This record gives sequence, C-alpha cells and structure tokens, in this order.
Amino acid sequence: MIYDLHCHSDCSDGALRPAELVARAQACGVQVLALTDHDTIAGIAAARQSASTVVLVTGVEVSCHWQGQEIHIVGLHVDADHGELQSLLAAQTQRRWQRAEAIAAKLERDGVADALDLLRERFPNSLPSRSHFAQLLVALGKAKDHERAFQRYIGRKGSSYVAAQWPPLPEVVAILNRSQGLTVLAHPGRYQLSGGKLALLVREFAAAGGTALELSYPQLFLKEAQRMARMARELGLYASQGSDFHSPDQRWTNLGRMPPLPPEVTPIWQSPLWLAHMAVAA
Ligand code: AMP
Ligand code: MN
Ligand code: MN
Ligand code: MN
Repeated sequence: MIYDLHCHSDCSDGALRPAELVARAQACGVQVLALTDHDTIAGIAAARQSASTVVLVTGVEVSCHWQGQEIHIVGLHVDADHGELQSLLAAQTQRRWQRAEAIAAKLERDGVADALDLLRERFPNSLPSRSHFAQLLVALGKAKDHERAFQRYIGRKGSSYVAAQWPPLPEVVAILNRSQGLTVLAHPGRYQLSGGKLALLVREFAAAGGTALELSYPQLFLKEAQRMARMARELGLYASQGSDFHSPDQRWTNLGRMPPLPPEVTPIWQSPLWLAHMAVAA
C-alpha cells in the first residue's frame, strides 16, 4: 500500500484543486491519501466527490505555537462535523485573514500596492498563507523566487513580517484528539531546533496526547529520521509519512514520493484508532 498522509490543495497553498489532487494521487499509485490543507477542511467534500479508487482520509494541518516557534500539527481522520474542531478552524481562518490584512498593509509601505486584492483575485478559493504572498511578490517582479520573497519581505526577518497569533500546541492536539482524530507532529526536522529543544518538543507533544511523528517526508535526512525514530519508540509514538506535496512545479517531490519509514517504528495505520476508523468506513 502507498500511503501519502500530508498534502495541500488550492483550498490552502497548493496549486491543484482537490479533485485534481486526488486524480494525480491515483495516477501516482497512491492508495491512501490524506488531504491536509493549512487550517481548513474546505477541500475535503470536493475531494470525496471525485470518482477514484483512492481512499481519502479527512485531514488538516493546524498551525500552533510552542515556545515561540510555529509548529504544524496534522490531524488525520478528524470528524468534520465536530463543533470544537469547527470553532478552532473558524478561529484559524479569522487569524489568517487578519494576518493577511496586516501583511498587505506593511507591503503597501514597502511599495507593493493592493496586495490583498491581488491575492483574492489570484487565489479565489484559498485561505491565505504567506506562500500566496510569496507567489504574488514573484509574479509582480518584487522578488526573484519564493525564498527571496520570504527573506526580503514576509519571513521572520523580512520588512513586512507579521507574527501570527496561533493557539498553543497542547490546545490544538487536544481539540484534534477530541474530534476523533489522530495527531501527527509534522516535519519535525524542519523547525531548525537544537537537538535538545527538538527532544523537548517531542516529549511535550507526546504528553499533550500526540499520536505520531512524521518520520518520512522529502528532504528528511536518514540520521535525523533514525534519531527521531528512537524517540518515537521510547515515547510510544507511531510514525506517519507524507509528501507535503504543494504543486507539480516542485520538481523534487510528488504525491506518494518519500523515503521508507525507519524499520523500528510502527506506522500510524497500524494503530487501533486508525483501524477503527477504517472499519467504520468499510
Ligand atoms: P503560513 O502558514 O501562512 O505562515 O505560510 C507558511 C507556508 O509558506 C509554508 O507552508 C510553506 O509552504 C511556505 N514557507 C514558509 N517558509 C518558507 C520559506 N522560507 N521559503 C519558502 N516557502 C516558505
Ligand atoms: Mn504550505
Ligand atoms: Mn507544514
Ligand atoms: Mn504541509
């Protein structure tokens, strides 16, 4: 079975519509796909309607804060009708639009006019993210590429940086768990934390009720994966995997494409809660 449990549609900062994403997943040989847009499940219904043999998992990638860092938690098999989850995502939606307004106001002072209007025109289905601003800045010729758009404008040291007001990590994990979901610490190697701080993050994630660590995704180094696999075992955490696919333009990645999980960990799809969800769906 090929599992891809992390990817994005144009409901967040992905390039493909949900149905196109599912079709591409099928063409790539993916059998189980979780759509995990940033802070929204708006794409799930359309993805579900698209005719395909792919088993679709209702997912979401929620932004939160932990010790001043932005951390991403993936919820899998969440109940889309759960009231508390809906409130959380409504609040995240509001935070994203408010931050987008604040970024646009700063960009205006930086010589980029009407960024929010342009964003809405260019990405009519999307909950805004900095990735959209980066694409816009490149299209307007204000930055050569994404990386430079983050450096010069919207990244932490950029002139139009606006800090987001995300909720604390334990709160997000608790809500995703209460909505029947399994919770995954997304791409733990990407936060640029020291070894000690990463170990602390993983322990606090586990203590908050987290289910799994993402231990396979593009550009995760083997050494790092092995070290985190040991932590997963010690703490009784499962392992998840995903391509974090955003767009066909990212030539280094594709749906279903990621390194194998370290052999000593148990995949999240062997956990009792996952199996219970699959039994209900069958
Ligand atoms: P947001 O969640 O609105 O802060 O946007 C974050 C998104 O922007 C991430 O999901 C990435 O896709 C992208 N991103 C974040 N930092 C960078 C960076 N330094 N260079 C390129 N893309 C980035
Ligand atoms: Mn993204
Ligand atoms: Mn992420
Ligand atoms: Mn992602």
